Amino acid sequence: MSVGTDVFLKPGREKSLLRRHPWVFSGAIYRIDGTPAGGDSVRVRAHGGAFLGWGIYSPQSQIAIRLWSWEQTQPIDAALLRTRLTQALALRRMCGNQEALRLVHGESDGLPGLIVDRYADTLVLQASSAGAARWREAAADLLLELTGCARVYERSDAEVMSLEGIPARSGPLRGDAPPAQMQVRENGLSLGVDIAGGHKTGFYLDQRDNRALVRTLAAGRKVLDCFCYSGGFTVNALAGGAEHVTSVDASAEALALARDNVGRNALDAQRAQWVEGDAFQYLRKLRDQGRSFGLIVLDPPKFAPTAAHAERAARGYKDINLLAFKLLAPGGLLATFSCSGGVSRDLFQKIVAGAASDARVDAQILRWMSATPDHPVALAFPEGEYLKGMLCRVPG
Ligand code: SAH
Repeated sequence: MSVGTDVFLKPGREKSLLRRHPWVFSGAIYRIDGTPAGGDSVRVRAHGGAFLGWGIYSPQSQIAIRLWSWEQTQPIDAALLRTRLTQALALRRMCGNQEALRLVHGESDGLPGLIVDRYADTLVLQASSAGAARWREAAADLLLELTGCARVYERSDAEVMSLEGIPARSGPLRGDAPPAQMQVRENGLSLGVDIAGGHKTGFYLDQRDNRALVRTLAAGRKVLDCFCYSGGFTVNALAGGAEHVTSVDASAEALALARDNVGRNALDAQRAQWVEGDAFQYLRKLRDQGRSFGLIVLDPPKFAPTAAHAERAARGYKDINLLAFKLLAPGGLLATFSCSGGVSRDLFQKIVAGAASDARVDAQILRWMSATPDHPVALAFPEGEYLKGMLCRVPG
C-alpha cells in the first residue's frame, strides 16, 4: 500500500480544499508522485507543495480524491475512523430515542461515502466510495463495539457504485442475516422495513420529522399521498385522524408493505385506498374527475442527481405540483418535496411558485422542511443538502 503518496494540485485548485470542501476532481490534479491504487491514502498538496489534507484515491471516479483529514499529524487510520464514528454517534444521541436512525451520513460526518443506518439492533452499511469500501471491515467492527448492535448488513448496491468503479455488494457483513422484514417504531408507530430488498437501506429515514408534521395536520382531511413507498406519510395521516387517504406508488412491493403498515398499527383500512401506477398519470386522472383533497403529499424519487439534470427535473416537479395545486380544496395543504441534489432550495421554490401561478392559486409557504438532524449537512459541503420541502397552503 503506497501510504504517503503525494498528489499535487494545479495552481489555484486548492481554494475549495482550504474551505474544507472534501472533493478533488480529477481535472484538478497536476501530478501524482507514486502509483496509488484505488482506496489508498494520499497526501494532497497545493501546487507549491503546501499540505492540504489526507484523502483517499479513486482512479475511476470523477471525484478522484475525497479528503478525510485536514491535519498532517492525523493520517487516515483506525484511530481516525474511531474518532469520527464516536463523534457521529454523539450527534445521534441528540436525535431522540428513535429505533431507526441514520448513524453516519458520509461527507457530512467526515467519512466520505460511508452511510450507516440503524434499525433496532441491526446496522445497515453502504460504502459508496473507494475509501469507504477500503475501511468497511474496520468500520463494521468498530460500529458493533460502539453501538452494541447484533449485526451489520451491507447494502452497497446504489447506482453510484459503478461511477466509483467499485463492485456492488450486499449481504451480511457481521452477524447473521436480518429477518426478511424488520419492525421498527417511529414516533410511536410501527413500521415494517425490508432491509435486504427495500429502497436505500430499507426505509426513508430522512422524512421522519416531516411525517410527524403531516400527522399533526391530517385531522378531518381527505389526503393524497403520492409516491408513498412503504406508506410512512399514509400511516401518519391515518394516525392523525385523516378522513381518508389515497396512496399512490408505482411499486407493488412498496404498496404491499404500506398496506401491512396500516394493519400493523390497527388503523382503519377502510379509510385507505391504494393505487398502483404512475403518479403523473393518476394526478391527471384525478384532475379530470374533478376530485379535491385537503392535504396532498408529493415525495417523488430523485429526478436530478446533479445540476446537469436540473432542467428535466424542473419539468417533472412543475408538472406534479401544478396538478396538486389544482386538486387542493379551499384551505388545502401541500407538503411538497425534492430529494434531488441537483435542485437547490431556491430553484425548488421557483418551480413550485411557477406551478401555483399556472394553476392560478395564491399559495403561501407555511414552513420549509429538511431532512432530520441525523442527516446533517456539513457547512463546508452544501452538496450534502439533498432533501428540501415546503408546506404550502391555498386560501380558503
Ligand atoms: N414518501 C416515502 C418515500 C418515497 S420514495 C416515504 O416517506 O417513505 C419515492 C417512491 O416513488 C418510491 O416508492 C417509488 O416506487 C415511487 N415512484 C417512482 N416513480 C414513480 C411514478 N412515476 N409514479 C408513482 N410512484 C413512483
